[in-house]
Amino acid sequence: MTTIIPVTRLDPSVDHHLQAIVSGASTDATCSTDLAAGPWDFDARPGYGPGSSMGDVIPTGAPRQGELPAEYREASEAELDARIRAAKHTLGDRVVVLGHFYQREEVVQHADYVGDSFQLATAAKSRADAEAIVFCGVHFMAETADLLSTPEQAVILPNLAAGCSMADMADIDQVEDCWEQLGEIYGDMDAVDADGRVPVIPVTYMNSSAAIKGFVGRHGGIVCTSSNAKTVLEWAFERGRRVLFFPDQHLGRNTAKAMGVPLERMPMWNPRKALGGSTASELEDAQVILWHGFCSVHRRFTVAQIEQARAEHAGVRVIVHPECPMEVVDAADEAGSTDYIRKAIEAATEPTTFAIGTEINLVRRLAAQFPQHEIFCLDPVVCPCSTMYRIHPGYLAWVLEELVAGRTPNRITVSDDVAAPARVALERMLAAKPPVGAGTR
Ligand code: SF4
Repeated sequence: MTTIIPVTRLDPSVDHHLQAIVSGASTDATCSTDLAAGPWDFDARPGYGPGSSMGDVIPTGAPRQGELPAEYREASEAELDARIRAAKHTLGDRVVVLGHFYQREEVVQHADYVGDSFQLATAAKSRADAEAIVFCGVHFMAETADLLSTPEQAVILPNLAAGCSMADMADIDQVEDCWEQLGEIYGDMDAVDADGRVPVIPVTYMNSSAAIKGFVGRHGGIVCTSSNAKTVLEWAFERGRRVLFFPDQHLGRNTAKAMGVPLERMPMWNPRKALGGSTASELEDAQVILWHGFCSVHRRFTVAQIEQARAEHAGVRVIVHPECPMEVVDAADEAGSTDYIRKAIEAATEPTTFAIGTEINLVRRLAAQFPQHEIFCLDPVVCPCSTMYRIHPGYLAWVLEELVAGRTPNRITVSDDVAAPARVALERMLAAKPPVGAGTR
């Protein structure tokens, strides 16, 4: 049941659909009525804020955003829109604004490029003329943009509290500890067997901190995206007898399963348990060791939702993201990255009903972009990615006006000792030549 929150806490400058739900003007449901308030209400205290990740444990020391000046918190939607446009106009080619697919519409409309995290980082690379890259996404994405941009370019995250709960689930100390424990089982981690393979190759999903990418680069490993995970796993199996895959267990399991790896050879590594919760013999026999991480946005999708969509919409085409649990991917018609989903809809020549299992902002944008199709989110509850949601137009207006004033707020920099091996891991991924936009099956 939707709880009505006091009107004073509604933020008129955000998402009209959420405002309507919370004010009682819409019968749709949302996972948290706090979504209708300004994100600054949550920036003062630890936590991911309202949305899909609100129940996840935030690491100690996660970045906090300082107070946003009142003029931005209190501005109307129209005023913020005008201020953002004016600041962008003044800055011209000196700034490039990047908007992630999952970002709220009132922010994305100001983006020069819209895409997934890697598409945006490469877009930033193509704009070497821009002094500032304003990344309307989450923390690991801004780090990746910093890795791929020039040292002179400043990468700015409008709200420092916009982390990613999945990326935070693989902490560098936990990963180092895991590696040490695996070394006790596998012996010399650099020793190659008769086939020229080392005991284990670490593979990290793009959705991980720069520290984790650096770890992977230092240990002969590689980065993957949801578009190229299969190609990257093939690369890793050529060089290692096993793969240690983090942080997302679901992408790892779904991809490896589609490649024929049996489930019993994919033990989970829970960093809070000795040997990750597996036995030494299970780890000996492992082909893919899955880190105990997940995305709380994609974990919401269920087989029951797919069954309901099929019951209510004859001929519906169900496409889900590979960060969804295995049972959901198995029950869907197709699974693939955000780019895959977008291209699949774009390629449909006949009016089609699509039920999509990914973040609500992307699904709603696709529905608006392709009115010839019926497109809806499998999850009937409006529950966006909590951390993307922290980037409100008030923060975007603030960072742009700071740039106009000659100041550089919220700059994200990766230290050189981490950046060098992290770039190696990214370069290995690029050399592995991913099939752009390919699905997991
Ligand atoms: S959708 Fe999931 S993986 Fe993506 S930024 Fe949000 S929490 Fe992280």
